[in-house]
Amino acid sequence: MDERIIIRGAREHNLQNIDLDIPREQLVVITGLSGSGKSSLAFDTIYAEGQRRYMESLSAYARQFLGMMERPDVDFIDGLSPVIAIEQKTVSRNPRSTVGTVTEIYDFLRLLFARAGEAYSYVTGNRMRKQSDDEIVDGILAFPEGTKVILLAPVVKGRKGHYRELFEQIARQGYERVRVDGTLREIEPGMKLDRYKTHDIEVVVDRLVIKEGLRPRVSQSVEAALGLGSGTLIAAVVGGPEGVEVRDHTFSRHLYDPESGLSYDEPSPNTFSFNSPYGACPECNGLGTRQEVDPDLIIPNPERTIAEGGLAPLGKPRDIWIFSQLRAVAEVYGFDFDTPLADLTERQRAVILEGAGDEQFDIVYTYKNREVRYQHRFGGLIQHLWHTYENTGSASQRKWAEAFMRQMPCRACGGGRLKPEALAYRVGGRSIAELVQMDLASLRAFFEAVSFEGQQARIAAPIVKEIRERLDFLLNVGVGYLNLDRAARSLSGGESQRIRLATQIGTQLTGVLYVLDEPSIGLHPRDNDRLIDSLRQLRDLGNSVLVVEHDREMIEAADFVVDLGPGAGEKGGRVLGAAPPTRLPLQTDGHTSLTAAYLRGERHIRVPQERRTGNGHTLTLHGATGHNLKGDPLTLPLGTFICVTGVSGSGKSSLVNQTLYPILAQHFHNARLTPLPYDRIEGLEHIDKVIDIDQSPIGRTPRSNPATYTGLFTYIRDLFAQLPEAKLRGYRPGRFSFNVKGGRCEACKGAGIVKLEMNFLPDVYVECETCKGRRYNPETLQVRYKGASIADVLEMTVSEALAFFEAVPRIERKLRTLQSVGLGYIRLGQQATTLSGGEAQRVKLAKELSRPGTGQTLYILDEPTTGLHFEDIRHLLNVLKALVRKGNTVLVIEHNLDVVKVADHVIDLGPDGGEAGGHIVFAGTPEALAAQETHTGRFLREELARCARLRGDLEEDEELDLDALIGDDDPGEEEDAVDEDEEAGAPVG
Ligand SMILES: [Zn+2]
Ligand SMILES: [Zn+2]
Repeated sequence: MDERIIIRGAREHNLQNIDLDIPREQLVVITGLSGSGKSSLAFDTIYAEGQRRYMESLSAYARQFLGMMERPDVDFIDGLSPVIAIEQKTVSRNPRSTVGTVTEIYDFLRLLFARAGEAYSYVTGNRMRKQSDDEIVDGILAFPEGTKVILLAPVVKGRKGHYRELFEQIARQGYERVRVDGTLREIEPGMKLDRYKTHDIEVVVDRLVIKEGLRPRVSQSVEAALGLGSGTLIAAVVGGPEGVEVRDHTFSRHLYDPESGLSYDEPSPNTFSFNSPYGACPECNGLGTRQEVDPDLIIPNPERTIAEGGLAPLGKPRDIWIFSQLRAVAEVYGFDFDTPLADLTERQRAVILEGAGDEQFDIVYTYKNREVRYQHRFGGLIQHLWHTYENTGSASQRKWAEAFMRQMPCRACGGGRLKPEALAYRVGGRSIAELVQMDLASLRAFFEAVSFEGQQARIAAPIVKEIRERLDFLLNVGVGYLNLDRAARSLSGGESQRIRLATQIGTQLTGVLYVLDEPSIGLHPRDNDRLIDSLRQLRDLGNSVLVVEHDREMIEAADFVVDLGPGAGEKGGRVLGAAPPTRLPLQTDGHTSLTAAYLRGERHIRVPQERRTGNGHTLTLHGATGHNLKGDPLTLPLGTFICVTGVSGSGKSSLVNQTLYPILAQHFHNARLTPLPYDRIEGLEHIDKVIDIDQSPIGRTPRSNPATYTGLFTYIRDLFAQLPEAKLRGYRPGRFSFNVKGGRCEACKGAGIVKLEMNFLPDVYVECETCKGRRYNPETLQVRYKGASIADVLEMTVSEALAFFEAVPRIERKLRTLQSVGLGYIRLGQQATTLSGGEAQRVKLAKELSRPGTGQTLYILDEPTTGLHFEDIRHLLNVLKALVRKGNTVLVIEHNLDVVKVADHVIDLGPDGGEAGGHIVFAGTPEALAAQETHTGRFLREELARCARLRGDLEEDEELDLDALIGDDDPGEEEDAVDEDEEAGAPVG
């Protein structure tokens, strides 16, 4: 086969009929501005064609379900191998999938525990032992000569009953004596016990005096006793020579704890499976969590009094039964409604939440202006919520109650997911639950040190080898801070992708073409090197590795780079360079390559001349200890651009997203979010709101798009409704909505696409045949503004629309906010579901820019550079800097050194990930951080040195004027007047 992948005439999306040769079995990076066509080339052309050829090779039967796979718009591709895409989609939505199960490491752990685990009693903690019949015989013969022993077969242990039939049965088998609750008795006809008491019953199988030559008899009796006693027997020493202790000795073929009488079945890998009824904790079915009412959600703000609505489920006191109850309880327990809940005693709060048991209260209730008195118990708010949750017929009531509940660790298994006996097995002194909760780096260290004895060493060795290898692959892709118990669906896209990459390396496939989308997302520069090594490892196995990436290091490490551009959307889609990274041309056919310019340092993101110190006020969070956080105080100088950084797993997200943000959202917006534990926060009075601009989608259905989300579409519909043609026909703005009946195409209910349900395959969306994807009915489309129908407008990119609507200031202003965040290339009607996380985040940022600000807002952004080219990052930073110039505070969680270096104040978490992280190891200016020996400090030092070497004659960045973007009559988000079942268009077929 040719040593190259040969592509001729690729025209998918915005690709400009490109020809391209890509070397095989190399590490190839495809780069370019956002929207320049990288994904169109890598995924929609190369991967899609590879997939399609694979499908063609399947049977006709399989193909009939796959007929929808369209040939990508390309003349010719040669040199393709089987293609595997390692995408950023979450690996699994299944709540039972964990990092351990998707990497198969948990399967090896189960095997290891079943074959080489040591059993302990979960009752007494004793080591459990099992013995062969010969060992049992040896054990009995080892008593000193002359010892008197009774061999007993236990048949009942600690159970109630009269056991008349049992005694009859034993007698029929020829036995005459039993020991009942420790007393030897002869079996008499009709014998029975007190049926309401618990009993221990053992059959006397033999009575012996230990001496030479007894082995044949003992062997026979032991076999009989074990048969009768289901594998267990008791050798009761009842007398003998001086010094012999009179007591029972239990012997068992099973894993057995003589003290508690507990015995375990032979373990199998299923014993340790939380997805199997043999292993799963019966209380939580192996999920490890249960729905519980969370007291912190009932009292979200303990500084409030009951009168102020401090009990969130109840709100402010009014004439309802539960408040009458509470008043009576308050009187007896000595509190009132005007004391902050934080100042009540532990006991007083407990009675509010958990009730007062059987205690009766005199409750005065006003009913139709009459006072009614009752004697009544008080069950507490937790019971009140559960009662509502379980008994109400109303969905909204149920939802209300559910809002105060959270997934909490299961009380039976403590989150270990397994039955108690499975959790009591140990390897190297640790239970399987302890191992899956260790971070992967610690787990790897554990498996380096663990040792086994004797035969177990031979059994364990190959299993441990597999586990070590798989853990190494995971550590190499930089996810050493995760643990095996982590739910797969809670992983970020980048984490899922890296785990899939590690798994792929483990499969040792060769001759495959792997396509990856930005694997460096969310990685600290420290981990980037190892990621690059992993990709090289994949290549060295004999695979072609194609990576869509913006990261400088990754581009410089590639064997070959394909640079697309020069711009985005219609201005992109050309190959500006296809060469090893050092030989990328700056100019091709008169187009300048921004990538080459940045790589050569002819363009770069400038380090600011000076760092802002802020407005003198600070916000300080004390004692945050959630997850791995160690409680160091976090101080934010307000009015500055702050970057929180640190290696993956160091605690950035726990600190900012899960502690700081929920506190602020609760305080300013009454949001129902629960922060991780913290002591206190100071300085709230210096900000007036908090806005989290995250990467979650701007809408979950193909009906949402940038125009509806930013409110832009409202203006556009108003404009269309005011056109003479619309007025003549009596069309109002609703006519131009695709979410309500009237103007839209009813075949697809305005979606422009319809959903095909594909049996065992994922649903497929196809263009609506009636409107050809135009979303509207023909009458609506006849109304035109400057020759364009409403559907034409939705097809425009932001840049095109900007020119088109230049005469309509409020539309133009909205469009400029989108343009200013570097989204000029997206189409107004582009389905929200097709926007990347980074694009969704910037749409949200654009929406914020058009709101009149107060200059005292705290903006929080998590990894905003995801998916951004150097040039896009420069745009983004300009916007963030503009927000800070207005007096606001911008807090960004980021590893990207281009962002770290321009921040006014950097907070570095670490020193490492997982348990070895959680400290604030540095806070101050980037220059000061560069002098530190933290992971970030070392990389920042290099970056600042690189910037210092670059020529200083670059043009000054333009300053973005926010005031020109703000609209005074913001319409807000478009109403989504859609029924659930209409969301994605009507199903057909
Ligand atoms: Zn459980
Ligand atoms: Zn339609």
